[in-house]
Amino acid sequence: MTANLYDLKFEELRELLQDLNQPTFRAKQIWQGIYQNLWTDLTDFSNLPLILRDQLSSQFNLGGLTLEKELSSTDGQTHKYLYRLEDGSAIETVLMAYHDRNTVCISSQVGCAMGCKFCATGNMGFVRNLTSGEIVEQVIKSAAILSSNDNRLTNVVFMGMGEPFHNYQALREAIVILNDPNGFGMGKRRFTISTVGIVPGIKKLTEERSQVNLAISLHAADDQLRSKIVPINSKYNISALMTACDAYLEKNGRRITIEWALIDGVNDTDEQARKLVNLIKGKLFHVNLIQLNPVDHYPGKPAMDQNARRFQKIIEAAGIPCTIRLRRGIDIQAGCGQLASNTN
Ligand code: SAH
Ligand code: SF4
Repeated sequence: MTANLYDLKFEELRELLQDLNQPTFRAKQIWQGIYQNLWTDLTDFSNLPLILRDQLSSQFNLGGLTLEKELSSTDGQTHKYLYRLEDGSAIETVLMAYHDRNTVCISSQVGCAMGCKFCATGNMGFVRNLTSGEIVEQVIKSAAILSSNDNRLTNVVFMGMGEPFHNYQALREAIVILNDPNGFGMGKRRFTISTVGIVPGIKKLTEERSQVNLAISLHAADDQLRSKIVPINSKYNISALMTACDAYLEKNGRRITIEWALIDGVNDTDEQARKLVNLIKGKLFHVNLIQLNPVDHYPGKPAMDQNARRFQKIIEAAGIPCTIRLRRGIDIQAGCGQLASNTN
């Protein structure tokens, strides 16, 4: 078994090379090759002597994601990549270009255990956690794709398959690796973690005083409705969730995004909008509405445009910033909640 270089923090790489009697500058060269030159094959490392490249190849590998399929949306700006993992399972990563930024949407698990009713990933059930290396590699592969078009990756959102806080350790390590200023150097503020509301995860993030952005998938403003569509609500209810958010805001001072998939006749009512206002009024929140993306197994329909705008107006009237997210990549099932390990 060879070790995956993407799993390693710089210090760990340096120590492993020390064991191979290699000087520290070799670790720096390798780090630079991986995270600045974005070389994805050990034979590419022209900054290393051939003999060392051979030695490295016998002990390390550079990732295990094989691109199996790429789909591009008719909008020309959204691309979805299906990667096969070494154990045969599959994940999806989505790259989105905007006029001022390039964002990659990363998966943190194969499947998801949370079972939100309207989510294709949830419908798959939980298969396994990704390793930190598998998370890092999705980002680096995306950056390499952009770089080959003279472009740069600017933002990383954990909004792909899986619940990031159910894989806290790997997520945290991946962010540390990608943040390293001598390597990839992606600033903490360029990451966003989206969670269904795992309270211990929010607490850990608060304790770490992490600068990464936090988004909470709320979708309903009372426990009765939320538990119906987001089952984990019966474990971490709205009141526990709001208490954790308050502590985060107090310690961190960074605005939290509330995500809300508007489902026709379910959670797009004035009553829900008013209840949401009551929950977050006067605090540092931003509300991001998205009209439900279609998924095969769920009969709900997206909220109608006029209802989405009415909902938005109620939130805004309370002085809370509220945007309706442009739906992207629906034609290739690359929208929020549409990702699954589909190979067809
Ligand atoms: N597990 C995390 C992150 C992945 S889901 C979370 O739930 O936050 C990313 C976002 O897509 C979440 O806000 C989720 O609620 C939303 N989502 C899931 N299914 C959707 C659908 N069919 N239409 C629109 N958004 C959806
Ligand atoms: Fe999991 Fe998020 Fe989908 Fe819920 S919405 S099932 S937490 S991926």
